[in-house]
Amino acid sequence: MSGQTKSETLATRRRLLGRNLSVAYKDPLKIVRGSMQYLYDEQGNQYLDAYNNVAHVGHCHPRVVRAAQEQMALLNTNTRYLNDLINEYASRLTATLPESLSVCFFVNSGSEANELALRLARAHTKARDLIVLDHAYHGNTTTLIDISPYKHKGPGGSGPPSWVHSVPQPDVYRGQYRDGQAGERYAEHVIEVIEELGDDGLCGFIAESLPSVGGQIVLPKDYLGLVYKAVRGAGGVCIADEVQTGYGRIGTHFWGFESYGVIPDIVVLGKPIGNGHPIGAVVTTAEIAGSFANGMEFFSTFGGNNVSCAIGSEVLATVLDEHLQTHARQIGDHMLSRLNELKSRYKIIGDVRGSGMFLGVELVRDRETLEPATDEADTIVNLMRGEGILLGTDGPFHNVLKIRPPMPFDQNDAERLIAVLDRILKTNI
Ligand code: PMP
Repeated sequence: MSGQTKSETLATRRRLLGRNLSVAYKDPLKIVRGSMQYLYDEQGNQYLDAYNNVAHVGHCHPRVVRAAQEQMALLNTNTRYLNDLINEYASRLTATLPESLSVCFFVNSGSEANELALRLARAHTKARDLIVLDHAYHGNTTTLIDISPYKHKGPGGSGPPSWVHSVPQPDVYRGQYRDGQAGERYAEHVIEVIEELGDDGLCGFIAESLPSVGGQIVLPKDYLGLVYKAVRGAGGVCIADEVQTGYGRIGTHFWGFESYGVIPDIVVLGKPIGNGHPIGAVVTTAEIAGSFANGMEFFSTFGGNNVSCAIGSEVLATVLDEHLQTHARQIGDHMLSRLNELKSRYKIIGDVRGSGMFLGVELVRDRETLEPATDEADTIVNLMRGEGILLGTDGPFHNVLKIRPPMPFDQNDAERLIAVLDRILKTNI
């Protein structure tokens, strides 16, 4: 089958795989190779990858590949045997986090990590009610669909269960509060839920530090501080989903939550930490980990296996050795100023936001009504793909261009992306 043409591959896939696996782009890509910030199709054409944040240090980064190969050839087994790799990885990881976040659990995906975070929170608080942000996505399991309004309120969804309470996403561009008091006003909604719950008890609050599928949103500076205080006051725990935003991506800080001066009780990690290898992790306080250690064993067959730990350690070391956080800040600042310059020339660009290599460009048909330019966003993404640049869309109306490249994305790549986007906006939109 490896010799099949692109259309044959598509037909075979349609026959053998579930129909709700989506395919990117009107003219799908058959990708056969990756190297750093580039992907290559079956004909050898190169694509600049400007949105796959999973390949954090770069597709097939040689250091990560080598670490995986060497460990695969030596040993790959589970956490029931002593081995130094898992301790080294946990020690490296916790060194990047505030001191209170000191106990690690390793699993195989962001979904598994969020599932485990919920179990930890429930074990610690003995409560179930959870506050989530509207439009949030936290993973693909049954429970995580329940806590992901993006899914349970969307096509095919059947709404939230009674223990899930969604509050407005603190979006200062499109949301209901946009002024200097927005942080407080959005936090009021959390406080309202807590008051309504009364003595029923709160398990916690979960949010991405910069909501991603919600539209590459930067929260008002004071929002999480106010929310965390209220949640803790009601006996709940605060969970930061850093699956998309951690590991230096936002440039200014290593972790998204740090940019608001807060410290969560549980941090959830995934995607970039394995650079494509399936790793998820939960890091929490000794106290919460203590409540979870209630006699029931926690075991994940593959979570924390030797190969995953070797890869995880190497990815983290690479992020630090290659100063990728500083790089993200420099390139991100440059991109923001170039995108803002495009905004001054094209009315369709309503908002440019984000930080480092986590950027969003919101497209609107009217800057007053903010009517989403959804079809235009789709057209742009497909035309960019035709020019060899891969972008995606995000946000409740799919009208936000997401720019979230592998971190080696450099100045030349940025210039190229801007030049092509400029040309498309001028001639096609
Ligand atoms: N949390 C967030 C914020 C995510 O974006 C995702 C995946 N898109 C997940 C959790 C789930 O991760 P996974 O797909 O690895 O299970």
